[in-house]
Amino acid sequence: MQKAQMRGMRRTKIVATVGPAVAGPVKLERLIRAGADCLRFNFSHGKPEEHCRAMAQARSAAARAGRTAALLADLCGPKIRTGSAPEGGVTLVPGCMVEVLPGSLESTPHCISVSYPGLSREVRKGHRLLLADGRLELVVRLVRGKTVLARVEKGGVLGGRKGVNLPDTELSVPALTPKDLSDLKAMAGSRPEYVALSFVRRASDLAACRKAMDRAGLAESRLIAKLEKPEALANLQAVLASCDGVMVARGDLGVEMPAERIPAAQARVTEAAACADKLCIVATEMFESMIQSPRPTRAEVSDVACAVRDHADAVMLSAETSVGRYPFEAVQAMARVLEEAEAEQVRSGRLSPAPCGETRGGIPDALALAANLVSERVGETVLAAATESGSTALYLSKSRPSSPILGLSPVTATLARMALYWGVLPVRIPKLSRHADLLDEAGRCARRFAGARPGGHVVILSGTPLGRSGRTNTLHLRRL
Ligand code: PEP
Repeated sequence: MQKAQMRGMRRTKIVATVGPAVAGPVKLERLIRAGADCLRFNFSHGKPEEHCRAMAQARSAAARAGRTAALLADLCGPKIRTGSAPEGGVTLVPGCMVEVLPGSLESTPHCISVSYPGLSREVRKGHRLLLADGRLELVVRLVRGKTVLARVEKGGVLGGRKGVNLPDTELSVPALTPKDLSDLKAMAGSRPEYVALSFVRRASDLAACRKAMDRAGLAESRLIAKLEKPEALANLQAVLASCDGVMVARGDLGVEMPAERIPAAQARVTEAAACADKLCIVATEMFESMIQSPRPTRAEVSDVACAVRDHADAVMLSAETSVGRYPFEAVQAMARVLEEAEAEQVRSGRLSPAPCGETRGGIPDALALAANLVSERVGETVLAAATESGSTALYLSKSRPSSPILGLSPVTATLARMALYWGVLPVRIPKLSRHADLLDEAGRCARRFAGARPGGHVVILSGTPLGRSGRTNTLHLRRL
């Protein structure tokens, strides 16, 4: 099974969001067999205990499918929403004035409430309130005491509990809400490999999340910063330094800033993440039409290929798999597009991004670059990283070799973590103490999982003594 997985070698990983369309053990297994490398559980919707049950089902489904899949728990973060709305919603008419109150009252055409108590303290005249993914727009005209009066610029029907974006306002809202803190506690037993924090603005948001994760018993989970506010882009280097990966969350980002700026922002983020050895997931509306249709549009296909060209590590499906009519077809179609785009990158010699001109990760990073160079010079090579934490495999992945990469580890959590690493096939090996045994094992794995042939080579990165994290210091070239 894993052999076939490597042979058809797709390098860019697929994150698929779990929801009603793929609920239950059978559908989750089908989703993983279709090619999902990482399953995302969106805590903005549903109950935490339902997500935890689904995470347990996903672990068993991956085992049945003979695949390694990572789990990503996506925290809601300080998302601001409108209050409820009567059946059919309320119509906001352009030019009319609307009072905006803190709370969760039912909306009327003249008064809406938003779930942010600090609104009247922080908005100023001229600030925009974008409702329902930016389809409706209000502009603040007057702030007096707790009263905020706004003019409807873009009208339409407003439903209940719609998202509110305030792109002009610096919000003092905390990075983690009480719900996030209780969700972290609830998910601790499920041990997701990745936790994503929504609406990150600055590095301190991530430090707070990291602390809360440690307290909740999630010290081993890696932290993904969702970039959906312009402030996060303005603080990109500090944000990257405070997390393990970023997600270009184009849904909210495209509301908070003009959508036409997203392609450049995406290219900038993917490049910065590559230079910082951090993961980068490109997300949202990638195959949006497949929520209803069995095939993606040409433009969507181009968008996914563009993410490959930008050197993203992973691409994400949201509603396409969580509530869409064709969740499995969406994953399969995405896999095909990724393979084709990668083949073109290999043909044109553009697999790796422009070099950053510096070695960031010390010895393991330098050895990964050396391994890549050796494999290029020697030809027909498999790269193997013997890794406790996954970091050596990540450095290999970030050096963007054209050779297959095996992430060899006896540690279950590390194997699942590596499922999200570009180009890495996680392979379980026994716990070994002798270096000679590791080299034999790496040779066996290269033949079995990467189709290496007699006369071919495997480049093995490892550390001495074996079995300790952060000790990578050896590059071994072995002829098979
Ligand atoms: C996004 O806004 O693009 C996103 C991925 O976040 P969410 O799905 O939580 O809105």
